Amino acid sequence: MHTAEHSSKLAQQDRDHLWHAMVKFNEQASPLMAVSGDGAWFTAADGNRYMDGVSGLWCLNLGHGRKEIAQVVYDQLMNVSYFPLTMSHEPAIELSAKLSELLGAPYTTFFTCSGSEANEAAFKIARQYHAQTGKPEKIKIISRYRAYHGSTLGALSATAQANRKLKYGAEAPGFLHVPPPYAYRPSFEDDLAAANHIENVIEWEGPDTIAAVIMEPFISGGGVIIPTPAYLQRVAEICRKHNVLLITDEVVSGFGRTGKMFGFMHSEGVQPDIVTMAKGLTAGCMPLGATAVRAHLYDAFKQAEAGSHFRHVSTFGGHPASCAAALKTIEILEEEQIPNRVARLSQDTMKELNRLESCQIVGEVRGVGFLYGIEIVEDKKTKAPASEETMLAIVGGCKEKGLIIGRNGDTVPGYQNILIVAPPLSSTEEDLQFLVDTVKNIVKKEA
Ligand code: PLP
Repeated sequence: MHTAEHSSKLAQQDRDHLWHAMVKFNEQASPLMAVSGDGAWFTAADGNRYMDGVSGLWCLNLGHGRKEIAQVVYDQLMNVSYFPLTMSHEPAIELSAKLSELLGAPYTTFFTCSGSEANEAAFKIARQYHAQTGKPEKIKIISRYRAYHGSTLGALSATAQANRKLKYGAEAPGFLHVPPPYAYRPSFEDDLAAANHIENVIEWEGPDTIAAVIMEPFISGGGVIIPTPAYLQRVAEICRKHNVLLITDEVVSGFGRTGKMFGFMHSEGVQPDIVTMAKGLTAGCMPLGATAVRAHLYDAFKQAEAGSHFRHVSTFGGHPASCAAALKTIEILEEEQIPNRVARLSQDTMKELNRLESCQIVGEVRGVGFLYGIEIVEDKKTKAPASEETMLAIVGGCKEKGLIIGRNGDTVPGYQNILIVAPPLSSTEEDLQFLVDTVKNIVKKEA
C-alpha cells in the first residue's frame, strides 16, 4: 500500500489540505507520518523506525497496538455505538465509580472529550458552585505562569504562556496568574514562599472574588517543574482557609505517569476539590476528558434551587467506546502495576540522565516518574538559555538516531530551552536504555 507513488501523493495532499497543530507554516515541509506502530515504537512512511519518547502528546501511555483496548472499543461500537450522557450508559457509570475509587475519596465525574474541555467544565462548575452557595462574586481563577491548561478560550486564559495567546484577543475575564516554584530560576526564596504568594493574591484580590486555584501537581509542558510535596499541601491549606476550590489538572500527571496513580498523591493529605483528566485516561487510544468533583460539592448542586443543573453538554463527552477504553486502560494499569513499575524503573533512568549535569550545556535535569526535563543553557553560570540552533540540533540529532523527544512549550520568549522526555509507561527496559543512551550521546555531542 505504501508504494513510493502512494506516499508522494499523500505528502502532496498533506501539504494542500491538512492543517497541522503547532507547526510553523515555514517549517511544514515534511512532517513525520506514522504508518505502523508497535509498543513504544512506530514506523514512518520514510521506512524509518522511531521510539516515541514523548508518548505522542504525553498520552500513549501503554504504547501502540494494545489488543485488549481495541477489543473493548470494537465490542462497544458493535453493541451501543453511541448514547448521550443526558441519559446514561453502563461504561460511563462504571468508569465514574472506578475513578472515585482511584481518587481515594467520593467523587462524581462529568465526562467531556479532551483535557481543555475538562478544565472548561471545572471552571464553570467552580463558578456555579459558589453562585449557588451564596457567593456569586467568587469567579476568579488563579493559575501559574508557564502552565498549559488547554487551547479553548477559557482553558487558554488559565494557560499562562504569553506566546500561545498572541493574536487571539484578550483573555477571558477573571483569570489571574502567579509564578510557580521553580528552584532553578526562582521567583521566591523557596516553595513555601511561592505557595504563600498565592495567599497574598487571594487576600489582595479579596477572598470573596476567588473561585478556584488550578495547577498541575508537576508542570509538564511548561518545562517539567517539580516542587517539593509541601508546596501542594500548603496550597491546599490556603484554598481551604479561603473557601477557594483546588483543581488539580491531572491531564498529564494522572494514571501512573509520575509513579503514582495521580500526581497529587505525592503530597500526603491533599485531596483536591476537583480533578481534571484526559490523555492517559484512555492511554491515548480514544478521546475522553473527565472532571471529577468531590461529593460535597456535587451535593451542593443537588441542594440548589429547584431546576438547577449544570448547563454544559458535549455530544461526544463520555462516549461509550471511550469510557470502555478507559475502563480497560485502568484495568491494565492495575494488573500490571504500572505506577509502581514507573516509580521503580524511573530511578535508574533518572540517575543516568542526571549524569548529564556534568555537561557544560546542561543546567539542570529534573524529573518524576516517566517525566523528565533537561534544561539546556549556553552558560551554566549565567543560566542563559540555549539558542534555538542548539535545541534544534539536539532534537533533530535524536530523531536521526531514531528517538523522538520534545521541548517545553513557548512559555517565556527565548526560553524554549528544556528538552522533554516522557516515554510510554509500558516502555521496556531496553527501550529506556536506548532512550537514555541516545539523549546522552546527542547532548554530549552538542556540548
Ligand atoms: N492540561 C494539560 C496539563 C495539558 O498538557 C494539556 C494538553 O497538552 C491539556 C490540559 C489540554 O488537553 P487536550 O489537548 O486534550 O485538550
